[in-house]
Amino acid sequence: LDKIVIVGTGQGGFQAAASLRQEGYEGEITMIGDEAGLPYQRPPLSKAYMKEANIERIQLRPENFYTQNRINLVDATRVEQIDRAERAVVTSAGDRIAYDHLILATGARNAVTPIKGIHEERVFGLRSMMDADHLRSTLEDAKHVIIIGGGFIGLEFAAVAREMGREVVVLEAASRLMERAVSPEMSSHFERIHCDRGTMLKFGQPVVEVSDEGAYRPCRARLANGDSFDGDFILLAAGVRPNQELAAATGLSTANGIIVNQLLLTSDANISALGDCAAFPDPRTGELIRLESVQAASDHARTIARRLTGKPAAYTALPWFWSDQFDAKLQIAGLPSGADKSFVRKGNGDEYCVYRFAENKLVCVETVNSAREHMTARKLLATGSEPVFWDDLKQVGFELAALM
Ligand code: FAD
Repeated sequence: LDKIVIVGTGQGGFQAAASLRQEGYEGEITMIGDEAGLPYQRPPLSKAYMKEANIERIQLRPENFYTQNRINLVDATRVEQIDRAERAVVTSAGDRIAYDHLILATGARNAVTPIKGIHEERVFGLRSMMDADHLRSTLEDAKHVIIIGGGFIGLEFAAVAREMGREVVVLEAASRLMERAVSPEMSSHFERIHCDRGTMLKFGQPVVEVSDEGAYRPCRARLANGDSFDGDFILLAAGVRPNQELAAATGLSTANGIIVNQLLLTSDANISALGDCAAFPDPRTGELIRLESVQAASDHARTIARRLTGKPAAYTALPWFWSDQFDAKLQIAGLPSGADKSFVRKGNGDEYCVYRFAENKLVCVETVNSAREHMTARKLLATGSEPVFWDDLKQVGFELAALM
């Protein structure tokens, strides 16, 4: 291979380029991304960066990394078309760039739920550095914040806004926080954390309308049951959708994401896909899944780089996640597919752990402020390790470390 083109200069796109060089690839690497500037990390956008805008701290590497590693970074440019027959991409600048292999790392975008008025001026999303800058300056002048969505990003932003002394209401249509990602016990734990800090949480009612006219504040969100909340602005944090249209338009298989196999190859042998935009087979169940995490994007990228340098191996990494809300650091190892039973362990101080089991087999470990336990869980749950059963853990008083 002489020419590798990467579409998307986010977490996964960056890692693919870096890993290709680490694995000894000597050919051309071109990264094309529609955002301006150097690749950066998104996780701090809803955390540290929201408090203090330090761009250098969130950049994945300084500029000289790209020159030293001969990575041609084309920013502020969109790839608009893939010509598979000719193996070339067409960009918004009108350029045609040829590839031997193409890596799609297009990520995801904020979901815009069908709420009446959702395109109003005072409704914001949080996905990019530009979004974060916009939101931070809006937050400075605001007193009352409305957040639609009680998932990771909504809650991380809620915590920052509360720490800055704003009144915050989180409107969640489901019956509990972070429902897709964590156990009911962990949802309750975080509900207490947010309530104790004075955040108002509303569950079980979808927002049906937003408007630029509150009775008391500049905007208003109305729930299905008629209750309404006024605020200075609204953050819409109701999930994301994979950026798969470019792939679909060129005839690649897509479902909820660009479909890839265990090697992260799409239905075209010259095109790989990774990260938030890719639907890949779960190494444990074989079912197609899509993950939105730094770990998945980075590990996918490493898998692709190894394959393209002649060391193909199936993707088997254990998924893990984190979220910081106030002084609670949530870490999750594994996926809760089929979880039907939990064990809760309260550790020293503010440590809190939930072990989740599916048919008595440990599948997922959620920890708060217990990095050690999280690391132990990652080792125990790693692909290829012996399964851990409820009875094994019971015998050792539910001390994970005792099984190492
Ligand atoms: P991205 O990093 O989204 O990169 C995709 C890039 O491709 C974007 O720049 C996009 O604009 C660009 N692009 C799309 N289409 C085109 C095109 N046609 N042409 C050119 N460029 C294109 N994960 C965690 O694990 N822990 C966290 O705590 C955490 N916190 C987060 C907080 C926030 C606010 C956000 C937004 C995300 C967070 N995530 C977190 C998720 C994590 O950042 C993503 O999973 C990760 O960035 C995915 O990497 P990616 O390369 O797949 O996509």
